[in-house]
Amino acid sequence: MLEKLKIGVLGGGQLGAMLIRHAIDLGLNVSVMDKDPNAPCARYTSSFVPADPTSYEAVLAFGKGMDVITIEREAVNIAALRQLEKDGVKVFPSPDTIETIQDKYTQKQFLQSHNIPVVPGVAVQGKDELYAIENKLPGCLKKRRDGYDGYGVMVLKTKEDIQKAFEVPCVLEELVDIKHEIAVIVARNEHGEVKCYDAVMMAFSEEKFILDSQITPAQLDQAILQQATVLAEKIAAAFKLVGILAVEMFVTQDNKVVVNELAPRPHNSGHHTIEASITSQYEQLLRAILGLPLGATDLRFPTIMMNILDSTYLNENKKEVLTSLLAIKGAHLHWYGKTEHRPGRKIGHLTIADTTMESITAKAETIRKILK
Ligand code: ADP
Repeated sequence: MLEKLKIGVLGGGQLGAMLIRHAIDLGLNVSVMDKDPNAPCARYTSSFVPADPTSYEAVLAFGKGMDVITIEREAVNIAALRQLEKDGVKVFPSPDTIETIQDKYTQKQFLQSHNIPVVPGVAVQGKDELYAIENKLPGCLKKRRDGYDGYGVMVLKTKEDIQKAFEVPCVLEELVDIKHEIAVIVARNEHGEVKCYDAVMMAFSEEKFILDSQITPAQLDQAILQQATVLAEKIAAAFKLVGILAVEMFVTQDNKVVVNELAPRPHNSGHHTIEASITSQYEQLLRAILGLPLGATDLRFPTIMMNILDSTYLNENKKEVLTSLLAIKGAHLHWYGKTEHRPGRKIGHLTIADTTMESITAKAETIRKILK
């Protein structure tokens, strides 16, 4: 029966490509829509539609005739998804869930209304409003919509910094004294079955808000990890989620766990689940949206995941670099096949899986040197 189902995915980046890979295991047909005709998924499905997922007409036309629609990015047309639902297409996560999460401020309000601890923040329209509340600085300013990989985030220390602020609707959050950043991926199906993955711990590069590496399992106190899991489960229940949801959290200096942001789709923080978990986050998403039993989430090895960012060095030495990386035992290369060269862009990742934390840490160091 699985081979007859038509699954549509909005967004065709590397997360979609990894989803297709796992859909093949289940014998499923996947169609993908992305406005970039050269998006990673274009090469992996014969049913690729080069159109904009934020367009009402395009999403409606794409979704007609599908059994289930899901997303691999949040920027999608909600009105079209609601119409498709009315027409009998299953849309998971629900349009309401995606809409609430698309906007960092409505997301925060939703979580607060369910007594989930978040970073306090106020909505601001632009610089004039920021000057009016300059007594709230220092703070962390975030675009309400379409931010990713730290590109819509800046720290405002003093009122002098306001002149460089974004001129779009934003949230000004209190600046958190962050001890650790962690994430938990939770899955839930229509029958209310819920499963969480172990928390991962993130390390960011100093000068940018870009992820350097991610360690699983997070080396933190069990009580903190337990709190993080409970929060993820509570959030999945509050949304009556069908699908998967990444919950990014901060552990503060006084060991409180607060939610930073949500992503209702496959996520960077679940890359390692391909090699290291009994069920990958991609298979889990497919199981969840098809009403199948959720898979076990146990971790089989400790892992470190490292993003590979585009650079002139890498571009000019690709063959040597990739050959050196592939020679490291237990380093699994995921190369996204992006054709356009843009320094700083994520073009692949490596998951290092091995029996001990010491050996993966040593291999991560070797990889850092290879990547420069
Ligand atoms: P994005 O959606 O672009 O990933 P995030 O909201 O996750 O943006 O923020 C990116 C990074 O900025 C976080 O991982 C964290 O390091 C830092 N950051 C975010 N919010 C705050 C805050 N309120 N206080 C201090 N640092 C923050």
